[in-house]
Amino acid sequence: MRKVSYLSRGLADDAVQCQACEHFCAIEVGASGRCGVRRNIDGELHLVVYGEPIAAHVDPIEKKPLFHFLPGGSVFSIGTFGCNFRCSFCQNWQMSQTRDFDDQRHIGQPFEPQAIVDLCVRDDIPMIAYTYNEPTVFFEYTYDTARLAHERGIKNIYVSNGYMSEAALNRIEPYLDAINVDLKAFDDGFYREQCGARLAPVKRNIAHIAQNTDVWIEVTTLLIPGLNDSEAEIQAMVEWLVSVDPDIPWHISAFHPDYKMLDRPPTPHTSLMRAYELGRQAGLRYVYMGNVADSERGSTRCPGCGRLLVQRDWYRVREVWRHRGVCPHCEQSIAGVWS
Ligand code: SF4
Repeated sequence: MRKVSYLSRGLADDAVQCQACEHFCAIEVGASGRCGVRRNIDGELHLVVYGEPIAAHVDPIEKKPLFHFLPGGSVFSIGTFGCNFRCSFCQNWQMSQTRDFDDQRHIGQPFEPQAIVDLCVRDDIPMIAYTYNEPTVFFEYTYDTARLAHERGIKNIYVSNGYMSEAALNRIEPYLDAINVDLKAFDDGFYREQCGARLAPVKRNIAHIAQNTDVWIEVTTLLIPGLNDSEAEIQAMVEWLVSVDPDIPWHISAFHPDYKMLDRPPTPHTSLMRAYELGRQAGLRYVYMGNVADSERGSTRCPGCGRLLVQRDWYRVREVWRHRGVCPHCEQSIAGVWS
């Protein structure tokens, strides 16, 4: 299904410029932007995967991952084809990197925004996540759904690479409750070579969301052996995160060979541990390990007294102190959205 874009401007000769993400693609008639799902049709930019997710599941919120946002909650999760990054290590590449599809036919299951919201109301699902692939590339679908959800008191979540334009972020922000942003490395060369993007806009958006909005933010880094896991790079990354806000939860995720990056081993536990320690020593209050069986480093402890507040086992929440933002033992405030 097609929808005229909310974020574009006209150029000469019926070309259009997409303004959803920092690529700002100039797109000629009949062509698509880098993400493959925003197409110039007769001089108008269209999102061609509107209302047609190719994945729709109910997930635990911990899977996004968001650990400080309504823990233990269920979230209706949707994703489409397309992505504005070209990560050679993508773990969802069948969705994100598909470009060759016929948008004149149904390419996913029809699921209009109102139908998603109605389903969440009917089944008492309190949150919707735009995830699996980059939500910025299906912006209009997320925006329309989020507005309707917001009216019904349903929370909206982006799981994003953080490469949206300022215009896109400003437009979705009033309806966005939480976001997990991938900080894939702390080196612009990595972003250019591995993702076909740049680091600076991602840093700008993380800082803006954390410091100037009410959107709850957590950050995830996939540690890839030999590519982004040097001590110097991790140190610079965590120092920067602390300078933005030491209360941002930082998820360190283990790499597994996938897509085009099959020549590297899975992340050793020692690398994850070293990054974990660097994050804690730098002053991040909440550091977590993901994609590995380490219940201790996947659980939340009070940064004041060290007592256990949320116990997790993979994506399962074993125990949650209903502390409403305050440690029940020492009254230290715990950053996040708890009720
Ligand atoms: S969202 Fe897609 S079409 Fe728009 S600027 Fe980004 S990559 Fe280009």
